[in-house]
Amino acid sequence: MYFHLILTDDCNLCCRYCRAKAFEDEDKEGPDAVPVEIDANLAPDLSYDPELLYRFLARDPSPTVTFYGGEPLLRPVLIERIVREAPVQRFMIQTNGLLLDQLAPDIVNRFSTILVSLDGRETLTDENRGAGVFSRVMTNVRKIRADGYRGELIARMTVTERTDIFDAVRYLAENPVYSFTSIHWQMDANFTRDLSRRRFAEWVTESYNPGIRALVTAWVDHMEQNGQVNRWYPFIDPMEDLLYGRESPLRCGAGHANYAIMTDGHIAPCPIMIGMRQYYAGHIADADPQSLPRIPVGGECTTCHIRTFCGGRCLYSSIVQPWNPAGRQLVCGTVENLRDSLMDALPRVRALIDSGRISLPDFAHEKFNGCEIIP
Ligand code: SF4
Ligand code: SF4
Repeated sequence: MYFHLILTDDCNLCCRYCRAKAFEDEDKEGPDAVPVEIDANLAPDLSYDPELLYRFLARDPSPTVTFYGGEPLLRPVLIERIVREAPVQRFMIQTNGLLLDQLAPDIVNRFSTILVSLDGRETLTDENRGAGVFSRVMTNVRKIRADGYRGELIARMTVTERTDIFDAVRYLAENPVYSFTSIHWQMDANFTRDLSRRRFAEWVTESYNPGIRALVTAWVDHMEQNGQVNRWYPFIDPMEDLLYGRESPLRCGAGHANYAIMTDGHIAPCPIMIGMRQYYAGHIADADPQSLPRIPVGGECTTCHIRTFCGGRCLYSSIVQPWNPAGRQLVCGTVENLRDSLMDALPRVRALIDSGRISLPDFAHEKFNGCEIIP
């Protein structure tokens, strides 16, 4: 089982699409999210005895722990302690990268995957995340590589109307100096605070959807020209399933393969569902990690014609519904566009496999590593 371990709610950045939204005026014309009871007393920092966590994890034959926050690297001592003590073979971390230099190399080198948040080019990253962030993160990325980190390094972008998706992905992929092995991106599609101020519809139609089509073509061109399958998660995971003819449950794993351990030890289906007690799957004190309750995606996804491709996109959104019907149609339209683009590319990919230029195992990748897959 995969567990996101929330160490702290604290963060050392205030990104435009994340915490900064809390300081914006409320969008009176925006959709009303479905009210959900939130535990207002949830501890801001990990507040249970780590021994309790170790006993819980020891009951899982193969646990994977992903450090998560807030910014998990604000608690480096706790990370070191858990890495050294927990009965876990595989650790991962999702970080903004600013403090990656704070961990000892032997701890960093224990991570099988490191997800680093960046938004493509330096200018856009710094506009979204703060002046000088891109350069400081890249300095740390180069340092961990120099210190012997050989694991998967994922550039994880949040994409908004400011993003040219084709340019951003190609930029990170084609600069070997950045040494990212993989790229993932996620749309900022939580509209409850800002829909009427945004030009999301225009961007999706004129930029994002055509950009995805062009990017899929570039992805397959690269296979043809270089015999390599780039690990771009929104493509590689569904394409692998299409090649094997598999249907997918919720691709991020929330509520069936991937759970989040809150700062008080409660287990939520996903790290964003902080304090949503109604959906908790137990507590580490007494839950069996091998038989946690499944929390399915409901609502319109249950009857959607592309459900087995999409998997339901996002459990959190299906509960909170941060969209009006038009917004929902736009978001689901991006999934349909992704599916159509990959389906159109499928014959070319199959031909490349049949010719031996690439092979099916080239699509193998880590599942449930914090990439939500469907952007
Ligand atoms: S496309 Fe939309 S409605 Fe369909 S499964 Fe995905 S999120 Fe649900
Ligand atoms: S995609 Fe949604 S349900 Fe999955 S981890 Fe992200 S917020 Fe949670």
